[in-house]
Amino acid sequence: MVQKNKLDIRCSFCGRSQNEVERIIYGRNAYICNECVEMCSELLGENAHSANIADKPAEKKTDENLTTPIKIKSYLDQFVIGQDYAKKVLSVAVYNHYKRVRSSKKTNIQKSNILLLGPTGSGKTLLARTLATFLNVPFSIADATTLTEAGYVGEDVENVLLSLIQAANYDIEKAERGIIYIDEIDKIARKSENTSITRDVSGEGVQQALLKIIEGTVANVPPTGGRKHPQQEYIKINTSNILFIVGGAFEGIEKIIARRIGKKKVGFGSELGKNTEERHILSEIQPEDLLRFGLIPELIGRLPMTAYLEELTSDELRRVLTEPKDALVSQYKELFALDGIDLTFTDKALDEIVKKTEKLKTGARGLRRILETAMLDIMYAAPEEKEKLKEIVITPEVITSGAEPQKTYRIEQLKNRNTTKGA
Ligand code: ADP
Repeated sequence: MVQKNKLDIRCSFCGRSQNEVERIIYGRNAYICNECVEMCSELLGENAHSANIADKPAEKKTDENLTTPIKIKSYLDQFVIGQDYAKKVLSVAVYNHYKRVRSSKKTNIQKSNILLLGPTGSGKTLLARTLATFLNVPFSIADATTLTEAGYVGEDVENVLLSLIQAANYDIEKAERGIIYIDEIDKIARKSENTSITRDVSGEGVQQALLKIIEGTVANVPPTGGRKHPQQEYIKINTSNILFIVGGAFEGIEKIIARRIGKKKVGFGSELGKNTEERHILSEIQPEDLLRFGLIPELIGRLPMTAYLEELTSDELRRVLTEPKDALVSQYKELFALDGIDLTFTDKALDEIVKKTEKLKTGARGLRRILETAMLDIMYAAPEEKEKLKEIVITPEVITSGAEPQKTYRIEQLKNRNTTKGA
């Protein structure tokens, strides 16, 4: 075996060099660092204790230790259109987060929980979900507006953790490395900047309760959800390594930023369009703007990474229809292909879907609704004639006025072929 230069030696599993780990052990043609040895030993230990391991499908091993920000972003690119800035922020934050989690040394690095600001349907939840899929970690979504401070009617904040535990199939260790997306965080902003005058229980109380689990605590989770009960046995979960991504539309924050930086003409009635000036202004966001919006300072402090998402342009909405790996149009095509029918959308039909979607003002979220409405009758009737149907073409009129799509039948094709032969 050729002896490598000492500086070139890297762990064959995680790729880290000698400087980055405590020890590297040499094999015949491979190297392994002390941390990977520890992880393997943990894995083997887990398997030995798992009684029905043989029945379980082989789990995809997490790539979190092998990945890099560039790899994370290029995975996100396959599913999420646009939002380059948010993708970069997330990729770096997630990379650092798992580096911190995996480090066996005690570290002072703060957890990089992330705040995503952006209009509805711009891809906030999709980004968080796609990240979790890539990292093969459990993922759950919570809606901040359904949560209440302990003692009030509604869901306890611990229920957010229960969904993650369920997503991890009650494997607590796995859940402790998961990702939780908390949506609508802006809706629990306190209403007044001055808490001493109007203490806003619903908003501030929930923020305080969330703060605890976001910053890291050992939480007691009621196993069946709902309210905590004194006699209940709780599931204990440490939230220190759970990555929290919180998101919201933060409508109106542009005006707060503009006021701070001395720009007046933003928002309704302004001469500058939402897509240009307001977008630009979001890039100047500072913690004090979030404070003014109504987030409590402690919570802002626990969300060190902020990324804004932009409203998708018409061009991007159109790309959402066809480009992502699981694009809506591809899904419909696949569904029809299973019945042996070719489904095609003309370019103009796609344009009309985008136009209609833009009127809904719900971002890419509207695309599915428009498509579902347009496709319902076709999906309803097509299976009846699937033996004969060869192709369905969705024309712009199908979208604009619910007209019948163009259909080609196999028999017609045969007929045409016979006529041509005879001619
Ligand atoms: P929100 O920003 O409100 O969290 P979501 O991420 O839930 O929006 O988006 C709703 C749906 O719209 C997603 O499931 C996805 O199909 C689509 N979508 C939104 N933004 C994008 C995007 N940037 N790229 C691809 N699809 C998107």
